[in-house]
Amino acid sequence: MKDSVFIYSPLFLNYKFSNKHPFNQLRVELTVDLLKKLKALEDDEIVEPRFATDEELELIHDAGYIRAVKQAGEGKLSEHEALNYGLGTEDTPIFQNMHQASSLIVGATLTAVDHVMMEKSKHALNLGGGLHHGFRGKASGFCIYNDSAVAIKYIIEKYGARVLYIDTDAHHGDGVQWSFYDEPNVCTLSIHETGRYLFPGTGTVHERGQGSGYGFAFNIPLDAFTEDESWLKVYKEAVTEVAEYFKPDVIVTQNGADAHYFDPLTHLHASINIYREIPKLAHEIAHSYCDGKWIAVGGGGYDIWRVVPRAWSLIWLEMKNLSCKAQGALPKEWLEKWQEKSPVELIPTWEDPDPLYQPIPRKKEIEEKNNHTLELALQFIRQQRVYKAKKNVNGQTF
Ligand SMILES: [Zn+2]
Repeated sequence: MKDSVFIYSPLFLNYKFSNKHPFNQLRVELTVDLLKKLKALEDDEIVEPRFATDEELELIHDAGYIRAVKQAGEGKLSEHEALNYGLGTEDTPIFQNMHQASSLIVGATLTAVDHVMMEKSKHALNLGGGLHHGFRGKASGFCIYNDSAVAIKYIIEKYGARVLYIDTDAHHGDGVQWSFYDEPNVCTLSIHETGRYLFPGTGTVHERGQGSGYGFAFNIPLDAFTEDESWLKVYKEAVTEVAEYFKPDVIVTQNGADAHYFDPLTHLHASINIYREIPKLAHEIAHSYCDGKWIAVGGGGYDIWRVVPRAWSLIWLEMKNLSCKAQGALPKEWLEKWQEKSPVELIPTWEDPDPLYQPIPRKKEIEEKNNHTLELALQFIRQQRVYKAKKNVNGQTF
């Protein structure tokens, strides 16, 4: 068995709204090239993705919506009808062959799932995926089909495994959460910037699932301007506690890299350091609870030059136990090749410049607020553990 596979196709670039749109899959190519120049990614570790079938898309999405996406991509959907499906908005414009481009992204996450669940590899990475805002019948926030939601449903149906989904994108993982809000075999945990001023506005600590899914959705919204220390405290405590509570068979992690200080769309103040720690703990959890089964996808990340390639390389390096390679200077050939094309000066090292930003006067207040939110979530998890243990003692199933 291989230890990790990297799912990738140059056709990921076809998922493109326009030249000016912030969502830019060139970041995946930048990452692949960085890993290759680092000599940490070999051709035989790269797996070509398949397209998702309509039947697979329908695990989550309405048939009518899929039809609309196909028509939109062929220029056959009226503007009015398109808007009913969230298509043709400023965030999610229509582009040619959008159905094909989007089903490849979903197929890539399914390819990752099959590799891991059929035990061809322990871990699998699809940086093209992580489109967590896609809804059952509606496009939203740069996302058309929700690859992670389809993949999780596919895991439940085909492999009968229980899934822990951990979403560290700066935006709330709403599409995935709502897809499994009443599903006890999927536990979702999203750590994100508070929705008070940021899209999509949801993800409060009080969203906890419903019906038999109650107690299987967790959210930790963080204050704007949150820095590394506080972010990591929340991440480590929440992930550790949720994993011990849920004891998953497999984990799916969404690795949006938009919590970084440089990200133009969000207001968190994280540095590259969190992107070293995020996959490290995910990796540990995968081995402690899931015999290594870990599927990681990409997500947001809008500073595609200075942040995303380094942040996403660190996931692959962690999977391969090669994170020691990410120290000091980036490969010279990579910097030379891409500096010409980059509108900003590239960061020449794996580490961020020091200092990355001016000290924040409200630091303490922000940390206290985040600690309070974390405590609310942890208390709820502990209550649920006691409650479920009692139910078990009484001989009832849960
Ligand atoms: Zn995001």
